[in-house]
Amino acid sequence: MSATILLIEDEASIRTVARAYLEQAGFRVLLAISGPEGLELARRERPDLVILDLNLPGMDGMEVAARLRQDSDVFIVMLTARSEESDRVAGLRIGADDYVTKPFSPRELVARVEAILRRRRSATPAVDSSLRFAHLQINPDRREVYVGNQAIDLTTTEFDVLLALARHHSRVLNREQILDLVWGDDFYGTDRVVDVYVGQVRRKLEAIAGVPLIQTVRGVGYKFIDEAM
Ligand code: CA
Repeated sequence: MSATILLIEDEASIRTVARAYLEQAGFRVLLAISGPEGLELARRERPDLVILDLNLPGMDGMEVAARLRQDSDVFIVMLTARSEESDRVAGLRIGADDYVTKPFSPRELVARVEAILRRRRSATPAVDSSLRFAHLQINPDRREVYVGNQAIDLTTTEFDVLLALARHHSRVLNREQILDLVWGDDFYGTDRVVDVYVGQVRRKLEAIAGVPLIQTVRGVGYKFIDEAM
């Protein structure tokens, strides 16, 4: 069954080109030209992935992403004309899984979409493979995280980052290793992305746990330090 992609973009030329390439790659493509229209379509059609222009008239992409995130963990790829890192980082903070900077090659866009959807497919194993720690319990099959009895709401990418660290419990992973484990060979971005995601995961977990669970090893990377059970 082919995945459904929702493209929210106000520029007609980009809609046309992106749709042609995505359809050629076998995806079902829905188009919206504004944030409100996109949100409406997302609610009705439940797409597998949303490609979202950051710079939309009316309701901008950040706002749209925040609203999408309120009721789903659909994959979000941000499309941005701005090349400033702060915008990209802000996009990731709001819960985007990846970003593409304009002008982009439509082939690259398709490759990224395929890479992200592959991550979801490869994340479906068997039996109870829960990882249990003193404060944290992680269930990779159900993609759930608990601190004590409290479920923690992580986005898909935040979860993958946490899982990579937890599976290498008490070992230091550098940024490149984390990029490899989470994004595979398909990632085009910078190490900075890792810092953003680790920061988010840490904030969400440690606010509830009340103790440090991920340690920054200066100049090297990160270490998951909750005690194994
Ligand atoms: Ca635009």
